[in-house]
Amino acid sequence: MLWIPGPTHVRPELLALCARPMFGHRGPVMRETIERLDPGLRLAFGLAPASTAHVAVHSVSATAMMESSLIGAGPRILSLVNGAFSRRWHQIAAALGKRTQILEVPWGEVVPSTALERALGEQGPFDAVTVVASETSTGAATPLAPLGEVLSAYPQTLLLVDVVSWIAGAPVDFDAQHLDFAFAGVQKALALPPGISVLCASERYMERCRAQEHRGYALDPERIITGHALRKTPATPAIPQYVALAQQLEDISAGVTLPESAGHLSGSDAWAARFAKHERMRARTHGWAAGHGLPSFPAEQHASPTVSCLRANELDVAGLLAGLAQRGFEISNGYGALKGETFRIGHMGDHTEEGLEELLSAADEVLAGLPAAGH
Ligand SMILES: *Cc1c(COP(=O)(O)O)cnc(C)c1O
Repeated sequence: MLWIPGPTHVRPELLALCARPMFGHRGPVMRETIERLDPGLRLAFGLAPASTAHVAVHSVSATAMMESSLIGAGPRILSLVNGAFSRRWHQIAAALGKRTQILEVPWGEVVPSTALERALGEQGPFDAVTVVASETSTGAATPLAPLGEVLSAYPQTLLLVDVVSWIAGAPVDFDAQHLDFAFAGVQKALALPPGISVLCASERYMERCRAQEHRGYALDPERIITGHALRKTPATPAIPQYVALAQQLEDISAGVTLPESAGHLSGSDAWAARFAKHERMRARTHGWAAGHGLPSFPAEQHASPTVSCLRANELDVAGLLAGLAQRGFEISNGYGALKGETFRIGHMGDHTEEGLEELLSAADEVLAGLPAAGH
């Protein structure tokens, strides 16, 4: 069983949908499939019924959406960096020839809104600020509301947010938090096979985007979003993932993925219950780890509800991973320079709390047999 922070475990029912015969992407079945996506996507991005924001889907990885989001944003980009994915987004901005500035804090921390305010005042103006909601490399979740508040005094600066290991695991409040562009791959808390991304853009972003020359073709946000509204894709889409996404969004909205006690919920209540499940799984994972002397890498108040990054201290991480693999469970080592110093458990998507108990008792067994298990 996969407990890594992406790709995540996919329910067999959804995998089976992906094995269905193909159909033409210019025909009525594709149109109907795309039409089924919008109600669930609007719930996933937290859009009010009257919101003017646009949702869409594109057949690319989240990394390609990092690039796409910047194409429509203008030339002056401020990147908030606190881990590997936020750094990658900054590198993409530089590779696109943007005039980039970086506002960086040590891995595991989050960029405070006061630092953003200072950077905007001292180094601005900027066309856009990029921020990663849940840094999957460090397990740190950045509070977006205070950043959005600071930015409300800078109407020319767009807020672009990577919600990859966040969406469908925790609430995205696109309108209330003044986001202008948000995107995610579906292989994290949406618990689907990789290959497509979901996105949401404000009307303000769309206006800015239309004013940019040379937006390319395959990643042009205008082409992607207008195409989606017309139920068309710019190129052949990843048809199996579209079908599975349509089902998954409907299942989440119908309470299908919830514990039995909450299975009667539907609509935004069902989504809220899914978020609450992730909160409980984080609390359980952190409680278990604390019992073994393994503290959270980010400060507790910034720990992501979907991925726990835990300090290994004296623990032999490779030994833990190998012992779990023997018992049929896969978790992740630390990312990059954090390898061996931390390890990560992706408790997101359609994982259940009963499943988490199985993982943790297997981990207890492994730890009992390791030299520096902390007890
Ligand atoms: C996984 C991940 C990405 C990259 O997603 P790809 O689909 O592999 O491009 C980007 N940002 C975050 C926060 C992620 O967790």
